[in-house]
Amino acid sequence: MQQFQQYIDGTFSDGATQFDSLDPATGAVWAKMPEASAEDVNQAVEAAERAFFSPEWAGMTPTARGKLLSRLADLISENAPRLAELETRDTGKIIRETSAQIAYVADYYRYYAGLADKIEGAHLPIDKPDMEVWLRREPIGVVAAVVPWNSQLFLSAVKIGPALAAGCTVVLKASEEGPAPMLEFARIFDQAGFPKGVFNVITGGPVTGATLTSHPKVAHVAFTGGPETARHIVRNSAENLASTSLELGGKSPFIVFEDADLESAVNAQVSGIFAATGQSCVAGSRLVVQASIKDEFLARLKAKAGAIVVGAPDDMATEVGPLCTLRQRDNAIDLINRSVAQGAKLVSGGHPIDRDGFYFPPTILDCSDVHDADSLTNEFFGPVLSVVSFETEAEAIAIANNTQFGLASGLFTQNLTRAHRMIRAIRAGIVWVNTYRAVSPIAPFGGHGLSGHGREGGLQAALDYTKIKSVWLRTSDDPIPDPFVMR
Ligand code: NAD
Repeated sequence: MQQFQQYIDGTFSDGATQFDSLDPATGAVWAKMPEASAEDVNQAVEAAERAFFSPEWAGMTPTARGKLLSRLADLISENAPRLAELETRDTGKIIRETSAQIAYVADYYRYYAGLADKIEGAHLPIDKPDMEVWLRREPIGVVAAVVPWNSQLFLSAVKIGPALAAGCTVVLKASEEGPAPMLEFARIFDQAGFPKGVFNVITGGPVTGATLTSHPKVAHVAFTGGPETARHIVRNSAENLASTSLELGGKSPFIVFEDADLESAVNAQVSGIFAATGQSCVAGSRLVVQASIKDEFLARLKAKAGAIVVGAPDDMATEVGPLCTLRQRDNAIDLINRSVAQGAKLVSGGHPIDRDGFYFPPTILDCSDVHDADSLTNEFFGPVLSVVSFETEAEAIAIANNTQFGLASGLFTQNLTRAHRMIRAIRAGIVWVNTYRAVSPIAPFGGHGLSGHGREGGLQAALDYTKIKSVWLRTSDDPIPDPFVMR
């Protein structure tokens, strides 16, 4: 049995208590994880605050910070196979994807390494003759990062990278469902040469998360997870008026017009809903397809879904692995039963796979006759696609926007003018046209409405970890005139 450790103030420890972590491929306990106590959380935040003001970190040049991030990126590349293996083991995410994703995670750190000394202030052309006024961009303070279990290395990179580039310090709470990759990441981070306390990793569930996000010394909470938890996060942070960035779920429309390249659209839809076993915030979980091609599109999709290799996540041939938790598998069964009872028609999948572990097959539900079916309206983190058809462009827009979420969207058409109209009309933070599920450190990522606020990735994300200080310097040697008049 492996025992993982938390990382506080540059020191590894078992924590006062431990909890079991299950292997989603078998359902068996495979490792012990430290559960951070309230005292552990406090020590981590105190360490991050000390580091924030320390000469070693606060006095470090941005260029030197960038070099440390660059070193961290190299260490991630060197250790990518081990990190991928642990993420697969603890969360069930297939090794095919963890291997590719973690190699790319290193590039996210490289991007922010390069940005560290390009976060500039400004000089203002002020409307007074005897003043120099400029803006300093200063790091915001201690950042609490809280992440869900899916893609933790990736979802934390888009927080840690820009936060450290800006000069902040971080306490990250890994998800209680599969924290192994983040606890191993701490070991790698430790070798990069950052001053102690700059980055800390703890784990535990909602209680640990609440203690961290309500800590009075936390200046900003960077959260990824579900909308219900986000409401708790906002309430927790409100006590100290800490700022928040919220990357939440979605119910993203995948819109296919009759003039689309169907082969490409079918492949992208498979990737959009069945990759990562559907456990992706940007999953294209609502297929909105033009009625004239619906039957052909569904036939092709059903054939591809039926040929998907469902299997052990550590097998490179596997395309869909287990869900992360047993609860999630039960939720899938429940959602499908409810939706079928409401009138949705099962096109493929839908029944649990008879084997150990938390497996559920790629599933397609035709909801064309029930636009309020639960599977069409509720976010569900799993390989379940709901289908609706439309006749006109206006109808496609109305269906696509009929959601409180606003994270991602996919659009398949060869018609350029229509594409531009649709891009304007779709209410989502990301529009992928004739592609899906493409990401890059250079491009901002995020949504609105129930999908949250704030953007991760790109230059703006680093600026969001800074606050502006306005500096006024009087250049006149004359005495200050009338002290009772604001000047
Ligand atoms: P979750 O909201 O249940 O948990 C996320 C994290 O919040 C966990 O670390 C959990 O321990 C912590 N937490 C729970 N209660 C808390 C509280 N009261 N205070 C502080 N922290 C608390 O999410 P999940 O089920 O682990 O993950 C799935 C969700 O994440 C889905 O809704 C999915 O769409 C979303 N997600 C979004 C993105 C994105 O980038 N937009 C990416 C991945 C996942």
